[in-house]
Amino acid sequence: MEFTDLGLSEPILKALAAKKYANPTPIQQKAIPVLLEGKDLCGIAQTGTGKTAAFALPSLDYFARNPKPTPIKGCRMLVLSPTRELAAQIAQSFRDYGRFLRLSVETVFGGVPIGKQIRALAPGVDIVVATPGRLLDLIDQRAFTIKDTEIFVLDEADQMMDMGFIHPLKRVAKLLPQDRQNLFFSATMPKEIEALAGQFLNDPVKVSVAPQSTTAERVRQQLTFVNQAEKQALLHIVLKNEDIDRALIFTRTKHGADRVVRFLEGAGIDAFAIHGNKSQGQRTTALQAFRQGKVKLLVATDIAARGIDVSGVSHVINFEIPNVPEQYVHRIGRTARAGADGIAISFVADDERPYLKAIERATKVKPEIVPLPENFMEAVRNLPKPAAPRKGPSQTPQQQARRAEGQRRYQDGQKQQRGSADRAHRADAEGGEKKPFRRRRKPGGVGTHKGAVQRTGAPR
Ligand code: AMP
Repeated sequence: MEFTDLGLSEPILKALAAKKYANPTPIQQKAIPVLLEGKDLCGIAQTGTGKTAAFALPSLDYFARNPKPTPIKGCRMLVLSPTRELAAQIAQSFRDYGRFLRLSVETVFGGVPIGKQIRALAPGVDIVVATPGRLLDLIDQRAFTIKDTEIFVLDEADQMMDMGFIHPLKRVAKLLPQDRQNLFFSATMPKEIEALAGQFLNDPVKVSVAPQSTTAERVRQQLTFVNQAEKQALLHIVLKNEDIDRALIFTRTKHGADRVVRFLEGAGIDAFAIHGNKSQGQRTTALQAFRQGKVKLLVATDIAARGIDVSGVSHVINFEIPNVPEQYVHRIGRTARAGADGIAISFVADDERPYLKAIERATKVKPEIVPLPENFMEAVRNLPKPAAPRKGPSQTPQQQARRAEGQRRYQDGQKQQRGSADRAHRADAEGGEKKPFRRRRKPGGVGTHKGAVQRTGAPR
């Protein structure tokens, strides 16, 4: 099947031709005709399947055929995404596919000044791609309304739930108008997600392109059992031995990601980290450098990396394996995108074996076990020292004082935050856009943790 068979309008076909996309992917083949008819859709699909175009193309087609002024302080289409990076990526797809249409596209997410967003939204926008927290902030400030939304998309619903967005989503559901088209996407569809879908969808057509919890078929999966303390040595060897174009290295925590970057710096290997303690600017710079191939290694936490689409990722390295099987599926789905082959290598410490069992049960795949390399103990003995925490020689005394203050506040904040994992989790993705975080952050930068970032190989 070709795109020209789907009945999409000329400007969209022209944009697809410019991108050299000739054939729709399976999710596009199934979803586009249904959506062109104006029906609601519930799609089970992972990122990497082409689902963004599956919802962007028919929506753009609708706007091409039904031009209308944008509603003041409102939008015609609202797309909700769990993370800032995914939101930016989706907005870029709309701009690419809609380049021959005169439509406005704006992103709305935390971690960037709200004033600019308020100004951009004031005249009304055709397509808004938003994370839920900042969207509701803007609505509460009466700077934005979603009452005129004609098409609503909820992307990565399972991730939204994982991140504790259930209440914001319920609020959004109440604020949307009755008469609208709804699209709902999730990589998995357990009962609670189905219940959430029920709140948004009206007699939806269901399409599914990847059975629940199956791993990307073209990814070669390997694992090595190794002590936690010796994982850095193993990483050093793997990075030397493997023919890596681009690798994503996953850790479970933000500090774990920073430790890996410091180690790599000490070993003279360039790498950036993206996670929720990084400022939006740093995250964007790191991702751009990785996309452009200026840096081959990106160290990431699950939430920060979710949905990121970078072509040419040859390796995914699970420095720590995730404690949720679905995260494993998402991680290794970062490689082998768009038909390429990829390798996923997992480092499994003793205390991670139960996680591994859960992953094997869920994916019904047993990764190939690769023994520790022969020279491993020597590598452990000669392990390069991690880079010293960066003091930031170019910092002014004022910056240094701010950094010390930020660190102190961060530590205080950490104490207060214990027991509030849910909020911290959301802040990881949205850069602390929830109000309780922002309030603490204003005077000295708790949320941005300038100190923490500068200590640890921030993107330069
Ligand atoms: P997504 O699942 O939306 O993140 O898309 C995964 C990747 O596939 C993105 O880089 C898209 O630009 C690309 N893509 C989407 N649709 C097509 C298509 N029909 N042909 C080739 N590449 C595509």
